[in-house]
Amino acid sequence: MILDDIYGVILERRRNPSPDSYVSALTTKGKDAILKKIGEEAAEVIIASKGLDKQQVIHEMADLWFHCMVLMAEEGLSHSDILKELEDRFNKKKEQDTSGCIFCNIISKETPAGIIYEDENVMALEDINPQAPLHVLVIPKKHIPTSLGLTNRDNELIGQLFQAANKIATERGVAERGFRLVMNTNPEAGQSVYHIHLHLLGGRPMHWPPG
Ligand code: 5GP
Ligand code: ZN
Repeated sequence: MILDDIYGVILERRRNPSPDSYVSALTTKGKDAILKKIGEEAAEVIIASKGLDKQQVIHEMADLWFHCMVLMAEEGLSHSDILKELEDRFNKKKEQDTSGCIFCNIISKETPAGIIYEDENVMALEDINPQAPLHVLVIPKKHIPTSLGLTNRDNELIGQLFQAANKIATERGVAERGFRLVMNTNPEAGQSVYHIHLHLLGGRPMHWPPG
């Protein structure tokens, strides 16, 4: 990507300053000089954007972007640091969209349900339409629409879901006999509630492959 290529050159000019390099000259003046330049470039973007010349806006934005990269090098940051921050924000926004989620309403106790287990992060309830003598849904309190939305931040949470399921299976006497844990993802798997949940099924022999 062009950004990586440019950033590579900026790093190189910092490592091996050359007399005719703009980046070397700016960098040797120190961080305040870079910050001043960013302020000026931001002002140029504003001025250009107030005018009618789109090409000028692009030109000034490229200047600002470039100087942000010079500052990134000064701060020891890489593009992946910035991209990760943007990605995290975007994902967080998606997670926060809980409007109309039946399980979020159960978690907030707005909607009553047969809650059989609850801790700080996890809740378990009897399935409203049981498919086996024991059919419990183990759900995280955090709204994650499908298993595809899981990230490294959820690693501990996933462990907690399985541990809660094991505890319930043991209490309900199916741990030794056997039980099944299922998470359906998206339509072809039959997911109908888009807030992840682990189905705990037990109390009868199960077939394989599943239908
Ligand atoms: P999915 O089809 O998404 O894998 O599973 C959703 C499960 O949630 C189904 O087994 C369905 O019976 C159950 N369910 C849907 N609405 C409610 C509800 O309001 N309360 C409870 N306890 N279970 C529900
Ligand atoms: Zn939800």
